[in-house]
Formats: sequence, structure tokens, C-alpha cells
Amino acid sequence: MPELPEVETIRRGLEEKMLGRVGKVLDVKVYEQKSLIGEPEIILGAEIEGFDRKGKALIVHFSNGFSAIIHLRMTGQLIWREKYSCGDIKSEQEIVEKTFAGGHPSENFVAKLPNKQTRVEIVFENGVLFFNDQRKFGFIKILERDEVKKDKFIKKLAKEPWEMTPEELFSKLQKHKGAPIKTVILDQTVIAGLGNIYADEALYFSGINPKRKAGELTEEETGILLLGARKVMEKSIEAGGSTIRNYVKSDGTRGDYLDLFAEVYNREGKECRKCKTKIVKEKLGGRGTHYCPKCQKEN
Ligand SMILES: [Zn+2]
Repeated sequence: MPELPEVETIRRGLEEKMLGRVGKVLDVKVYEQKSLIGEPEIILGAEIEGFDRKGKALIVHFSNGFSAIIHLRMTGQLIWREKYSCGDIKSEQEIVEKTFAGGHPSENFVAKLPNKQTRVEIVFENGVLFFNDQRKFGFIKILERDEVKKDKFIKKLAKEPWEMTPEELFSKLQKHKGAPIKTVILDQTVIAGLGNIYADEALYFSGINPKRKAGELTEEETGILLLGARKVMEKSIEAGGSTIRNYVKSDGTRGDYLDLFAEVYNREGKECRKCKTKIVKEKLGGRGTHYCPKCQKEN
């Protein structure tokens, strides 16, 4: 599931490839009705004015006062193909110059599109933006720009780690004193943007055991946790997230971007890079939780 850093990576990638370069919207093809909320005709003739992000929602602003909120959810993908490159991708050069793909990594990044997983296609003068979504939990919602902040998913979001002070987080933790810290930082009304991967990584960075009660953390530990949340997400954004550049390696193999930055996530049974203890995976609040039992002591 794409998390905040992946969505931010997509935002940056689309901004680089599309902003000021794609012309007007010529057509919106909807292959799956529930994947597009609102009236697709509203954006016809409009150009893109900017790409924004709130939590895990990507927002595209159009020149006519309307916007599209895009939720990728479990398996959503956004794939930009410049004109004449909608068929199979032929070369590394073509990928770098003419395309961008991000979201749930799969062969769709390089396959001929549209295909049976394509839910919406936004056709511009200079290319096509495909919204693919295997499991159909994601969607695009077209609405007036002023309505974006009132959207039910957007308005309930807490601050992101970059906007929040340690004091604010500490006071929020006191409202969930008895719950494990890992579970609390996954709650998007407490702090926005931390999904399962980055919650585990931020706790490892901070040396905090995921099972400790939120109310037991000191103010100092809370500050380090907040710093950890920023650091691990920044590292992932720099690594390029789950985008086409990481997915398609120069030797033709398919890559996993997690290898680029993860210290504990998906590393159970492997050695902690600080102390050589084996990383443990346990279920906590229904979520797979990875930590180092030595670096992240329970007491
Ligand atoms: Zn360790």
C-alpha cells in the first residue's frame, strides 16, 4: 500500500513530467464507474496548474477552478505516458524521458496500456495519465478547489510529522495512554502519514519498542520519535519510492525499493545493522510489526 513518501514521490514525479508540458484535457475515459466520483466532463479543456498532497491523497489542480483528489489505496497506480509511448516500453532511455509510473509496483509500469486494470484514463494533448487499480479500492474525485479541504478524508487528517511539534505529539499520546505506541502512531487522527512500514522504521530509529504504552514515553523520547518519523520518510522520498525507476533495474530485473532504506521492515530473521541481533516480527494490533529486541527494549 503506498504510504506518504510514495505519494510524495509520485507528486514530484508527475510535477516534473507533466506540469506545463501536457496541454489541455481532451478526454476522460471511465472504464469503472466507482473509480471516478464527480463529473469527468468538468475538466475537459482545462490545463494542470499544480500537484499537491495531503497525507496519502494526491491532489491535481486544474486551471478552471476544479481539482481531482486521487486516493491510490491498496493497489492504485498512476502512469504517465507521453504521446507515442503508450505501447510496450522499449528502452531505459524512453522510460526516463517519456514516462512516469508510481504506486503499487507491478508489470503495469511497463506494460501496454490501457489494460484490464485501467479504471480511468485522462487524455491530454501530449499524452495520457492512466489510473490503474487491480482491487478497485482507490478512486479519483473531481470537485471544486474550495471543496478539497472539506473532503471527508482530508479534513480529519492530523498534522504531518514536519508540521507537528514534540509537545503537540506528546499531548496527543496522552489521550491514548494505554495503547501500544505503534498502534497509536498509525492512527491518522494522531499523526498523519505514518503507515505500517514507516511506523516500524521510525520506532527503530528512536530505539522505542513498538509494544510500549503510549503514555509511558517521555517528552524526550516523543521528540526523538517525531524526528525519526521525518528522517525515515525523507530517506524514502530521496530513494524514489515505489516508482518506475526503482522497479525497472538497468539489468532488466524488478527491484524492491524497500531494500534501499528499510532497517527492520520485511527484515525478520536478518541481523540488525547496529547490533547483529536478529530482527523479530510479531503481530501487534493486527499489523505485522518488525523490531530489534536489543535496540528497542520493552522496559
Ligand atoms: Zn539492534
